[in-house]
Amino acid sequence: MKIGFIGLGNMGAPMAHNLLKAGHAVNVFDLNAQAVQALVDAGAKAAASPQAAVTDVECVITMLPAAAHVRSVLTADDGIFAGIARGVTIIDSSTIDPVSVKAFAELAQQHGNSFVDAPVSGGTGGAAAGTLTFMVGGSASAFEQVKPVLAAMGKNIVHCGDTGTGQVAKICNNLVLGITMAGVAEAMSLGEALGIDAKVLGGIINTSTGRCWSSDTYNPMPGVIETAPSTRGYTGGFGTDLMLKDLGLATDAAKAARQPVYLGALAQQLYQTMSSKGAGRLDFSAVIKLYRQDGKDGGAS
Ligand code: NAD
Repeated sequence: MKIGFIGLGNMGAPMAHNLLKAGHAVNVFDLNAQAVQALVDAGAKAAASPQAAVTDVECVITMLPAAAHVRSVLTADDGIFAGIARGVTIIDSSTIDPVSVKAFAELAQQHGNSFVDAPVSGGTGGAAAGTLTFMVGGSASAFEQVKPVLAAMGKNIVHCGDTGTGQVAKICNNLVLGITMAGVAEAMSLGEALGIDAKVLGGIINTSTGRCWSSDTYNPMPGVIETAPSTRGYTGGFGTDLMLKDLGLATDAAKAARQPVYLGALAQQLYQTMSSKGAGRLDFSAVIKLYRQDGKDGGAS
C-alpha cells in the first residue's frame, strides 16, 4: 500500500519503520528534519508538507502530540485536506479527546474521507516491536479497511465501537494507569519508611492482590524491576507530561459527562506537581519522588 505518515516522534518513527518493513511505500512528514531523514534512510520518501505527503496515497496515518496539532495538520493551507483524494481513510493514532475526534470525522466526511481514531497502548517498546494495541473507533467497514495496515504495527487490533470510542478506551485505561502508579509509589515508599526491603515488598505485591502493571512491570522503586524506567533514572518511558495530558483528557471528559473521577483528579494533581517541579520529561513512575523521604532519592526532579 502507499501510505502518508505524519508525526515521526518517539512513537511515530518506529511505527513508520514497521510499515516499511512490512513492504508498504511510505511518504513521511514531520517538522523535525532529523526525524524525517532517519526514515528516508530506511526507505521512506520525504514530503515537504502534509499536503504533499498525502497526495496519491491509499491511507493516511497521523501520530501527533495533541488535538491542536492534529487540527492544524488536517486543515492548514498545506494540510491533509488540501492534498487527499476522496475515499482515502485517515487514521489518527494520537491520544486526543473524543469530542475533537468527532469534529475531525465530520470535517473528513465533508471532504469525502473517513476518519478513524486508533490510539495505542504499549509504549515505545511496543511501537518498536510492532506489538502495540490499537483501540479503533469507527464504522465496522472502516475498521475492516484499516485492520491490515494497523496489523503491520500492532498485535491487538480492537474495534471499540463508533467514532471516538477508541479514545474513550485509551483515556479510561490511562486513568487506571495514572492512579495505580501513584498507589504503588505510595505503598512502596511506605514500605521503605517502615524498613522492609524493596525487592521483598515488590515480590510480595506481585504475587498478591496488589499486583498490577505498575507494580510488576514498571515498579517505581529503583531496583525492583531491572527493565523498568525507575532503574535507569526514570528515562526512556512514558513522560510525566504525557500522563498529565491524558489525565486532563479524562477529567475533562468526566466533567462533560457529569461523572465523578475522584482518584483521577487527585492523581492529576500529583503529576501536575511533578511537572511544575521540572520533572515533566521524566517517566511518570518518577511520581514516587513525591513520597520518598529525604536522602532516599527524594525531591521531584
Ligand atoms: P513525540 O512528542 O515524541 O512526537 C510527536 C512528533 O510530532 C514530533 O516528532 C513532532 O515534531 C511532530 N509534530 C508536532 N507538530 C507537528 C506538525 N504540525 N506537523 C508535523 N509534525 C509535527 O510524541 P510521541 O511520544 O510520539 O506521542 C505521540 C502521541 O502518542 C501522543 O498523543 C501521545 O500521548 C501518544 N502516546 C505516546 C506513548 C508513549 O509511550 N510515548 C504511548 C501511547 C500513546
